[in-house]
Amino acid sequence: MQDKILVSACFLGKKVRYNGEVKSLSNQLITQWQQEGRLMAICPEVEGGLPVPRSPAEINRNSGKVFTCDGTDVSEAFYLGAQRALALCQQFNIRFALLKESSPSCGSATIYDGSFNGSKVEGAGVTTTLLRKHGIHVFSEKNLSELANLIDSPAL
Ligand code: SF4
Repeated sequence: MQDKILVSACFLGKKVRYNGEVKSLSNQLITQWQQEGRLMAICPEVEGGLPVPRSPAEINRNSGKVFTCDGTDVSEAFYLGAQRALALCQQFNIRFALLKESSPSCGSATIYDGSFNGSKVEGAGVTTTLLRKHGIHVFSEKNLSELANLIDSPAL
């Protein structure tokens, strides 16, 4: 079985980041997986209806809601984007995701702490949390090799 991998669209150079800048992830594994046709790209925030560029957003640690730096509650867009990512995984039987670390949608080990002062805490983004609830294994650019070791394994 050849696994497909859900991937943060910004890793592939798509212009979806909040500040409109392109910042792709240059890595041999990414190139290989792209050539093998494994990668299914999504930007949950754009899928949820947010524009590019958009105000930076962080998860409030007390409420769990997502706010922009000017106090707008954008939780609904984040949740919708997460649902769309999950739907894509379910449609294509995707067991693995490679998502951008520390993003309020895509983070898998750390996120910004909600104070907009650049501090990070342990935690996961909205999309990562939903995918994990449904048994999808989420990795980041920091543990690419672990993902490479697991894909195509029938044991999982
Ligand atoms: Fe990249 Fe995820 Fe942020 Fe979209 S939401 S720009 S895919 S990190």
